[in-house]
Amino acid sequence: MDDNCRMAELLFKDITKTPADYEAQYPARNLEEGAVVTRFAPSPTGFLHFGGLFAAFSEYMAAKSTNGIFYLRIEDTDKKREIENGVSLIVKGLNAFGIEPDEGMLSETEEKGAYGPYIQSSRTEIYQAFVKNLVQRGLAYPCFMTEDEIAKIREEQESDKLLPGVYGKFAKYRDITVAEAQKKIENGEEYVVRLKSMGSPDKRISFKDAIKGNIEMPENIIDVVLLKKDGTPTYHFAHTVDDHLMRTTHVVRGDEWISSVPIHLQLFYACGFKAPKYVHISPIMKEENGGKRKLSKRKDPEAAVSFYDEAGYPSGAVWEYLMTLANSNFEDWRLANKDADISEFKFSLSKMSKAGALFDIVKFNDISKNYISKLNAEEVYDMTTEWAKQYNEKLYTLLTDDEQYAKSIFAIERGNAKPRKDIAKWEDVESYVSYFYSELWDKKRDFADNLSNSDMVEIIEAYKNIYDENTAAEDWFPQLRELAVSMGFAKSPKDYKKNPDEYKGHVGDFAGVIRVAATGRKNTPDLYEILQVLGKDEVLKRFDEAIELLK
Ligand code: GLU
Repeated sequence: MDDNCRMAELLFKDITKTPADYEAQYPARNLEEGAVVTRFAPSPTGFLHFGGLFAAFSEYMAAKSTNGIFYLRIEDTDKKREIENGVSLIVKGLNAFGIEPDEGMLSETEEKGAYGPYIQSSRTEIYQAFVKNLVQRGLAYPCFMTEDEIAKIREEQESDKLLPGVYGKFAKYRDITVAEAQKKIENGEEYVVRLKSMGSPDKRISFKDAIKGNIEMPENIIDVVLLKKDGTPTYHFAHTVDDHLMRTTHVVRGDEWISSVPIHLQLFYACGFKAPKYVHISPIMKEENGGKRKLSKRKDPEAAVSFYDEAGYPSGAVWEYLMTLANSNFEDWRLANKDADISEFKFSLSKMSKAGALFDIVKFNDISKNYISKLNAEEVYDMTTEWAKQYNEKLYTLLTDDEQYAKSIFAIERGNAKPRKDIAKWEDVESYVSYFYSELWDKKRDFADNLSNSDMVEIIEAYKNIYDENTAAEDWFPQLRELAVSMGFAKSPKDYKKNPDEYKGHVGDFAGVIRVAATGRKNTPDLYEILQVLGKDEVLKRFDEAIELLK
C-alpha cells in the first residue's frame, strides 16, 4: 500500500464502498437524445421566495420541454440555518404553483426516485467515498490548520494584496505525512479535508454558460475544503458529486455561483467526471427611482411567494408571468396564440435575460386579469371559494350559501369574445360582487352631478314603469333609449354634442342614472345582465330606495 492509500485508510477506515460502486448504483439515465436533467437545490432555510420559484420554474420548463427530468434536491449541509418543516414548505410552495418534481424530496422524510437520497445529510458516506478516492490518488489531504492560523494568513494576504485562501506556501499541510496525520488525530486535533489543487496561477479556464455566453477566468489554485471538520461536505464538493451521480445535464442556478465555476470544473476533473452544462440565471430586478435593483426579500412584499397565495393570484396567472419573465419572446407568442395552452410554447434556457428580468407588478396584474377573464364562471367560482375559504370567511359564506346566484354573477360578460378584465386576484372579488349582496353593500348611490335630483327621480320612476324582467337582451337597450328620447335626452352622445342646448343629456346619462340606482356605481359590467341576476323584486326595491335617497 502506498502512502496515499495509507492516508486514505487512516481518514476513512469505515468507508468501504468505492466510486465504482456508486457509478454502478446510479447508471446513466435512459432518456431520449437532447433530454435535459435539471434540479432545484435549495437549502431548507425558509419560505420559498419569488427568485427561488423563478429558478425552479426555469429548471422545470427546461426539463419538461425536452422530455427530461426535473428533481428536487435538498442542500442541508448548513444545519445552523435550517428551519423546522423547511423541506415541506419548499415542496408545498412549488406544488402550489403547479411545479411537481419528477424525483426528489416529498417531505422531511419521504422521497421518490432511483437517484437518491435526495437530501445531502443522508449522503455523507457517498461524499466520503469520493474524497477517500481523491486521497488515494494524492488529490486531497487532511488539513489541521486552526482558525487562528487561517486568520493569520488572511491578514498577511490582505496586507500583501495576495489572493486570499489556502494555497501554495500557505497550504501548510499539503505534504503532511501519514505518521504526522496519525499523531495529530490521536491527539484529538480536528481537521478538514482539502483538495490538492492542480491549478496554476498563470492558466485560465473558459466555459460556455448557456445564458451568459463564453466566460474566461483564472484557473482555481486554492486548496478548497471538500469535507468540513464534522465530515460533511462543502457546497462545492456536494454539488460535484450529487450533480454527477444524479446525472444532471444542466446546472441551472443563481449567477452568484459564477465565480465558483473554476473550482467546480476542477473538482469535476479531479473526480474524473464529465462536467455539466452551466446555466447561470440573473436575479429578478425591480425598478426604483429610475434605476434598477434586485428584488429584495426585505423590501418587496411580492418577493415572498406567500404574497401570491394570500392575494389570491391563480397559479396559472403566476405561471404566465414567470414565462414572460423567463423568455422575452413569450409575449409575442401569446399575442399570436391567445387561446393556446402555455405548454405549447417552446421554452428555451438560452433566451433567458442576461441582465435580469424586470418584475413589474402592473404588468403582472394585467396578465392576471387577462388570464382570469378567460376562465368560465364555474372556474372563477371554484377558485374564488377555495381562496376565500382560507382568507375571506364572509365572502366564502355568501358565495357558497347560494352557489347558483354567485355563479350567475361571475357569468356576467364572461365567455364572449371580449370578456371584461375586472379581477386580477381573488382578493378583488369582494368589492367586485359587493352590490349583489346586502351584507357587503353600503347602499350608497354615487350619482353623477350633471342632472338634478328631481330629473333623476323622474328618470327612475319612468324606467320603473316600463321595466319588465322578461325583456330580451336585444330589446333592452332600444327600449331604454326610446324612453330616454321621449324624456328629452339625445339618442347618442354624438347627437348631444352637436346641439347640447336642445337636450337634458344623452342616453348614456340616462342609463347612468338607472345603473347607479341599481348598483350604486357609475361603472359596472353590462347593466342588463346585472338586472337579470338581481331579479325583479330586488331591482324594484333598489329603484325605490334610490328615489327615497334623491328626494
Ligand atoms: N443550495 C444552493 C443555494 O441555495 C444551490 C445552488 C445550486 O443550485 O447549485 O443557493
